[in-house]
Amino acid sequence: MSFTLAIVGRPNVGKSTLFNRLVGKKLALVDDQPGVTRDLREGEARLGDLRFTVIDTAGLEDVTDNSLEGRMRRLTERAVDMADICLFMIDARTGVTPVDEMFAEILRRKSAHVILAANKAEGNAADAGVLEAYGLGLGEPLRLSGEHGEGMADLFSELAPLADQFAEEAVDHSPVVDLDLDEDDDWDEENAPAAPVPTREKPLQVAVVGRPNAGKSTLINKILGEDRLLTGPEAGITRDAISLQIDWAGTPMRIFDTAGMRKKAKVQEKLEKLSVSDGLRAVKFAEVVVILLDAEIPFEQQDLRIADLAEREGRAVVVAVNKWDVEDNKQEKLAALKESFTRLLPQLRGAPLVTVSAKTGKGLDRLHAAVMRAHDVWNRRIPTAALNRWLTGMLEQHPPPAPQGKRIKLRYMTQAKTRPPGFVVMCSHPDKIPASYTRYLVNGLRQDFDMPGTPIRLTMRGQN
Ligand code: GDP
Ligand code: GDP
Repeated sequence: MSFTLAIVGRPNVGKSTLFNRLVGKKLALVDDQPGVTRDLREGEARLGDLRFTVIDTAGLEDVTDNSLEGRMRRLTERAVDMADICLFMIDARTGVTPVDEMFAEILRRKSAHVILAANKAEGNAADAGVLEAYGLGLGEPLRLSGEHGEGMADLFSELAPLADQFAEEAVDHSPVVDLDLDEDDDWDEENAPAAPVPTREKPLQVAVVGRPNAGKSTLINKILGEDRLLTGPEAGITRDAISLQIDWAGTPMRIFDTAGMRKKAKVQEKLEKLSVSDGLRAVKFAEVVVILLDAEIPFEQQDLRIADLAEREGRAVVVAVNKWDVEDNKQEKLAALKESFTRLLPQLRGAPLVTVSAKTGKGLDRLHAAVMRAHDVWNRRIPTAALNRWLTGMLEQHPPPAPQGKRIKLRYMTQAKTRPPGFVVMCSHPDKIPASYTRYLVNGLRQDFDMPGTPIRLTMRGQN
């Protein structure tokens, strides 16, 4: 199974050089391949044992008039739509330019998988540029030298797990989002805003996990409002994980569930075992994980395991307690549930807990709201200026320790990624900072920037 990688970035950063290296020969421009415009060239790439399609946004160098930016934007958006993964390239020798920032904005908005590459990174002249690239908010930059072939092993390590994921997704026959590739044809280049309003262009990926009989199928059916999923002839027969695309209260979502549906499809395989491994798989695909508990048997071993996995995988989590309709002592029960939640799952501190009845539909509107909010927080981006103001305050309130009389300096902070939020603090002696201090900062971020229920990653990075 294969995937498509698009190499995007402004002219001259080294896209074609990398393209040629991946494809292994100089390719002529192909004019009329279906789905490929003259400005995009496509080739079959090899990297280690990976085989994939690579597209390069070439041809822009020829454009000299002032419509360059608009054309670049259109072309890039088209490439992003065609690709499963985008490799966004900057020139680490030049550093980050405003045009790079424009590209970063497009990618943050449109692409599910972005690999940020700081190219021309051979030697030390690129160090400053690599550091600057963190500020683009697309994660840790990959040091690359397309010309000298450096960083190819790291590129392989980034691509390999994604390749596995796309191989699995390819088995999934559920409806695909229909992207209109020509949507920007009437784009007004002159008056285009620098940063378009973000729009949701991919369905929100939700996994519903929980022990057998928690009510997963009932819940999804209620949301669907019909019995389609359970009675569909192909449900669960051929696939390991089932996903289906639905519209839940106006939000396009792709919901992953597994054993519950399969059971109803009368495939009585080792249910218990399946539901665990399928749950794990669903978590890997999801943006938001809904852990569905049976109010009578909450927080079982299996639920705890999957909750912990969701946290480690960096997913947003919502806990839903089902079968609330048959609960007599609602208030007492809720208090007890909250207590167990805090005690058993401290790593999910602050995650929303919603009571529902999949059977009657009660509470589903609150569940929808909780999912949306969790997703929102998970995607939250905090401006660098605000972060550094905040960091200054935190340092004043509670300075870092001075091991052996040596002060640790925390200099600068930026959000390196979202989904979940990840932050990098540039400091002296990162290895000397105690875990308790990192925890102090993470808890502070969670509280001060209102980010409940999402894992927060904080990395200390040395810089002298
Ligand atoms: P594109 O416009 O993004 O496709 O960029 P090209 O691949 O045409 O490269 C632009 C220029 O950068 C060429 O002169 C390349 O030789 C040079 N270049 C590409 N990759 C590297 C690299 O890794 N290191 C250095 N130093 N130069 C590079
Ligand atoms: P799954 O294995 O997680 O997919 O669970 P099912 O959806 O098959 O539900 C298991 C059982 O719980 C069925 O008998 C459902 O009718 C019942 N059930 C599901 N949701 C509710 C609910 O909200 N209230 C009550 N009282 N029963 C429910």
